[in-house]
Amino acid sequence: MTKYFSSRLKGISPYVAGEQPQDKSYIKLNTNESPFPPAKGVTQAAKEQAGKLNLYSDPTCLPLKRAAADLYGLQAENVLCGNGSDEVLFFTFLAFCSESKGMACPDVSYGFYPVLCSLLNIPYIPVPLTADFTINVQDYAAINANVCIANPNAQTGVYLPLCRVEELVRQNADRLVVVDEAYIDFGGDSAVKLINKYGNLIVVQTMSKSRSLAGGRVGFAFADKNLICDLEAVRNSFNPYNVNRMSMFAAEQSLKDKDYFLYCTKNIMQTRQFTTEQLRKLGFTVLPSMANFVLAKTDAMGGRQLYLKLKQRGILVRHLNDDRIKDFVRITIGSAEQMAVFIETLKDILKETV
Ligand code: PMP
Repeated sequence: MTKYFSSRLKGISPYVAGEQPQDKSYIKLNTNESPFPPAKGVTQAAKEQAGKLNLYSDPTCLPLKRAAADLYGLQAENVLCGNGSDEVLFFTFLAFCSESKGMACPDVSYGFYPVLCSLLNIPYIPVPLTADFTINVQDYAAINANVCIANPNAQTGVYLPLCRVEELVRQNADRLVVVDEAYIDFGGDSAVKLINKYGNLIVVQTMSKSRSLAGGRVGFAFADKNLICDLEAVRNSFNPYNVNRMSMFAAEQSLKDKDYFLYCTKNIMQTRQFTTEQLRKLGFTVLPSMANFVLAKTDAMGGRQLYLKLKQRGILVRHLNDDRIKDFVRITIGSAEQMAVFIETLKDILKETV
């Protein structure tokens, strides 16, 4: 840290992203990407726009907003587009929290929430999940802060039914509830259908997982149009061209290809079922997941040791050094072929250790 670094930022603890190794090719099950390529029209759209990169992208994002709104029968005014949902989360925390209005989040969740709070000087209030890693909505009732949950939850994959989410939103109209639905398309029921009913709900989604566009960096906020106006004010005070031209057109094509989306998400859900069953047969504890990953642990060795043994054999999973889940590894659901190799590799590792 240089002497020039702002004293306001001295306390920040930056997010550590999952490995993206360039040295050799791994079976990559560590950052919850899709094993499927983007939808068919996506490459063509990106290519066409590549030749127009001398021009700025559309600062209104209107066609993309319309395509996202159409998914849920909403209006473009109900949508904000971001450079990945991380940026949407940044805008949201910046717009609605402050030094005196903190953010309450589950103690095991997406690591970016406390990072954003430290960056923006917002009090971060961790609320413990229950022993079986579920969110108890009542635990948030007396907290005087905004609330941000991931549903299904990050790291665990555990899903909170929509009626519980609604309870959380209804509990207190004076605070904002952010529901980060990065993983909702793998079997969950979206809270977007509640936004016309509640003026204190923001639902955040991404194209990085179920839409195979992690490298495109496109995410959304869905909310009442007044909340979107506030978010637009922040976005336009930061970067009106936040979504680049190639990604904007590519994302629109992707949203329109409903068949491919259904094919990919169904396949991941089936492979998740296969992976969970196989892991349990091998004696693993596997949390029930509605996401494109599972969190699993074995008595045979610790989470870090398993991560290292898999890495040696060319398979990357994620080990998170968080006290409550440090015995686990988080395994992204890849293709059926990748998961078959993963399970066979695990069998070899377990044989070696007995
Ligand atoms: N929310 C959650 C819960 C996530 O796990 C992720 C992915 N790391 C994101 C948001 C961010 O996704 P992206 O910025 O790629 O849209």
